[in-house]
Amino acid sequence: MSEVEARPSNFIRQIIDKDLADGKHTGIHTRFPPEPNGYLHIGHAKSICLNFGLAQDYQGQCNLRFDDTNPAKEDIEYVESIKADVKWLGFNWDGDICYSSNYFDDLYSYAVELIEKGLAYVDELSPDEIREYRGSLKQPGKNSPYRSRSVEDNLALFEKMRAGGFEEGKACLRAKIDMSSSFIVMRDPVIYRVRFIEHHQTGNKWCIYPMYDFTHCISDALEGITHSLCTLEFQDNRRLYDWVLDNITIECKPHQYEFSRLNLEYTVMSKRKLNQLVTENLVNGWDDPRMPTISGLRRRGFTPGSIREFCSRIGVTKQDNMIEFGSLEACIREDLNESAPRAMAVLDPVKVVIENFQSEEILTISNHPNKPEMGTRAVPFTRDIWIEADDFREEANKKYKRLVLGKEVRLRGAYVVQANRIEKDSEGNITTIFCSYDPDTLGKNPADGRKVKGVIHWVSVDKGIAADVRLYDRLFTVPNPAAEDDFAATINADSLIVKQAFIEPSLVGASEGQGFQFERTGYFCVDAKDSTDDQLVFNRTVGLRDTWAKIDAE
Ligand code: ATP
Ligand code: MG
Repeated sequence: MSEVEARPSNFIRQIIDKDLADGKHTGIHTRFPPEPNGYLHIGHAKSICLNFGLAQDYQGQCNLRFDDTNPAKEDIEYVESIKADVKWLGFNWDGDICYSSNYFDDLYSYAVELIEKGLAYVDELSPDEIREYRGSLKQPGKNSPYRSRSVEDNLALFEKMRAGGFEEGKACLRAKIDMSSSFIVMRDPVIYRVRFIEHHQTGNKWCIYPMYDFTHCISDALEGITHSLCTLEFQDNRRLYDWVLDNITIECKPHQYEFSRLNLEYTVMSKRKLNQLVTENLVNGWDDPRMPTISGLRRRGFTPGSIREFCSRIGVTKQDNMIEFGSLEACIREDLNESAPRAMAVLDPVKVVIENFQSEEILTISNHPNKPEMGTRAVPFTRDIWIEADDFREEANKKYKRLVLGKEVRLRGAYVVQANRIEKDSEGNITTIFCSYDPDTLGKNPADGRKVKGVIHWVSVDKGIAADVRLYDRLFTVPNPAAEDDFAATINADSLIVKQAFIEPSLVGASEGQGFQFERTGYFCVDAKDSTDDQLVFNRTVGLRDTWAKIDAE
C-alpha cells in the first residue's frame, strides 16, 4: 500500500481506486499492445511505465500483447526488439506473450455472430467508393448498395472471402451501424479485409485480416483486461469498442480510458516517420543514438532508471502538450552525476610540453569527487600531455580561468603548470605550448600563497589512447518537425560530430554501455556496436549542463 501512495496519483489511478472501492473489480489487469511495425520509442515508454507500473503497484497483472493484424507492415525483427526493450526498461509481462493473431479463430467466429445478428455485411464497393460514401464531418454518409443483403448471402460471401474467393479490395466485411452517425468511426466501419500476405505468426493460414477496432476490444475482453489504456486519438473509437463488445456474446467488458501522448521537442515520434529516417539512411538505423527510440537512447547511454524517472515526472493527463528535450536530459544527467565514474579525455587536443619534468609519474585520482567508495584509479603523468585547444589563450581577461600565456593553471589531479612560450605552424595554429611545472603543488596550493583558480583536464601523450568520440545534438533544427511539410528537410546537419580524441589509459577495457563523466566535457558511454578492442568509440550521452545554456564562462 505505501508504495501505491508514494507514486504521484493521476486520473487513471483515481478511476482504479474507485473501481476497487466499489467492488467493480477485485484486481486490475492491464496490457501494453504494440504493433510490431517498428522499434519502440520514448512515447511507448510512457505507455509501458503506465501499464506495467499500475500492475506492479496494485499487485495486478500486465500483458505484453502484439497487436499484429497488419502483416504487410510487421516483422519478427520488431517483435524481438520490443520484447528486449520492455525487459531492459525493467518490466516483465505476466504469463505468455500474447498476440492478437492468437485470436484469429475467435475473431472470425465473432464476425460470423455479428453477421447472424444482421449486424455485419459483406460490401463490394471499392476502397475509394467506401471512402466517398463515408461522408465527412459536415456531411452524413450514404448506405452502400450491398448493405441490405440477407444473412445467408453475407455468411456465404464472408466464407468466400476467407476461402480466397475475392481479390484484395474487391470485398470486405463491415459492421452495420449508422451511416449518419456524428462519429465517423461508427459509419459502418470495415472490420475484415482481404490481404494475401503471409503473417509472421500464422503463416498462410489466413487471407482475411481483422481491423484494429474490431480486434483490440475483443483481445482485451478475451484476456480479461480491466482497464484498457490508450492515447487520446482513440477517444472516438471508444464508441466502436463498446458497440462490438455489447453486440457479441462475451462475458468480460473492459473499459477504455484515454490519456495524452508524449510529444518531445526536436524529435518525431511516429513510427512511420522514424521508419522513413531509417530507410532513407538519414540516421544510422533504429538504434542511432540520435533517435528517440528506446534502443537509440540505450546506445546513447541512458539508463532504464532515468527513462522511468522521466515518465514519472511527465505524469499522465488528458492534456496534449510538448515536453522540452531538456527534461529528458535532466533525468539522465542526475542519474549519471551520482553513478558515473570520472575520467579524463581530450576532444580537441593541443600538445603541452612540461620542460622541467623529465620522468613519468603515476598519479592516484579519485573516481568520484563525493563518493570515496567508488575508489581511485592510476593516471600516468608525463612530460608531454594533451589539453583542449580551447583551454589555452595567448591573452585573456580575468574571467577566463584556464591556461594563459605567462600564467598558471592546475592540471586536474596533478600539478600547477605555467605557460611560457608557444610554437605555431605556418598558418598560425598553435602546435605546442611549452610549460614549466611547480613540483610542490601535487594535491596542495603553492607554498608562497599564489592563487591558482583554474583547473583543466589533460591526457598523457605517451600513455593516452586514441578513441573516437561522437558528439550528438538535437536531430532536428525545429521544435516540432512533425508540423513541417517535409520534416526530413529540418534535420540538423550538425547532429553528429565525430572527434578524434585522446583518453586516459584506465578507460581501456571499459565494458559496452558503461557510462563515464569525462571531466568538464560531459557524460559518455562506450558504444556497444562500433567499439572494438583496438578502437574504442564513445557516445556523448548528455552535456554537463543544459546543452543550450552557455557551457563555460568567457
Ligand atoms: P506510432 O504513432 O508511433 O506509430 P502507435 O500508437 O501506432 O504509435 P503502437 O505500437 O500501436 O504505436 O502503440 C502501442 C501503445 O503505445 C499504444 O497503446 C499507444 O497508445 C502507445 N503509444 C504510442 N505512442 C505513444 C506516445 N507518444 N505517448 C504515449 N503512448 C504512446
Ligand atoms: Mg497503433
